[in-house]
Amino acid sequence: MTPPGETFRDPVLVLDDGFRKLVNATARLEKVATGFRWVEGPAYFPASRYLIWSDIPNDRIMRYDEVSGAVHVFRQPSHFSNGNTVDRQGRLVTCEHGARRVTRTEHDGTITVLASHHEGKRLNSPNDAVVRSDGSIWFTDPAYGIDSDYEGHKAESEVGACHVYRIDPQTGGLTVVADDFVRPNGIAFSLDESKLYVADTGATHEADGPRHIRVFDVNEAGQLRGGSVFATCYNGLFDGFRLDEDGRIWTSAGDGAHCYSPAGALIGKVLVPEIVANVVFGGPRRNQLYICATTSIYSILLSVKGARTF
Ligand code: MG
Repeated sequence: MTPPGETFRDPVLVLDDGFRKLVNATARLEKVATGFRWVEGPAYFPASRYLIWSDIPNDRIMRYDEVSGAVHVFRQPSHFSNGNTVDRQGRLVTCEHGARRVTRTEHDGTITVLASHHEGKRLNSPNDAVVRSDGSIWFTDPAYGIDSDYEGHKAESEVGACHVYRIDPQTGGLTVVADDFVRPNGIAFSLDESKLYVADTGATHEADGPRHIRVFDVNEAGQLRGGSVFATCYNGLFDGFRLDEDGRIWTSAGDGAHCYSPAGALIGKVLVPEIVANVVFGGPRRNQLYICATTSIYSILLSVKGARTF
């Protein structure tokens, strides 16, 4: 398909030879859509070939039709939605700053609230979520959506901290799985789901605060162990991220999308002219990397596919 808009040559910075085979030498970065305020939360629906994302300060979710190239408002108001993902049944799961909850959009279009309170206290502002193959939903709850009226509604935190939570697939019950984060953010499982990666963007609120991704071991009961630093960001912050089919992590950063080996080595970058907040794999072959970067959505066709997890 012809790129619809502006394209950028030589968008790749190779830091390890292993990265060369992931991005074709002639690949270009394409600007898919622009004119937004702060884009986040991309999710791709393979069955109907469209991408959605949150335009948080504009209180809306946008939709890009990959076949026609059309861009439309998908939902407005969106309750200042942030992270989006797709569950194993193809349903949209959304983190809402404004309503301080996690929701699921059912196949008939109705919206089910999955989590809004923990032990009687309102959540802060759910940021990003991932669905495990057992149906459990894991999400982060920093306070960005209640810090100000820019991307939510300014309010005091009722929980008083920023945790990582798990929604039980059978009972719907909500449990804290990690309570030692400053600002938990992006979240994804390893390919075999034995590890959970969670970003901490605490540097936005604390001098010398965390700007890294941590990795935990996950047991059958849905509990976490470990939590050592997997990678530290030296240009901006890691926000949202996704894995490719070989277990590499493609993460947001200040100067583009960074690619890390499963061992935690930075092997290359896709350089983007705006600050990147999140990425997702899409396209009919799952090798189109969509990049949410401040006012625009960018895309690059890779030689590697995204993981089958969403
Ligand atoms: Mg985020």
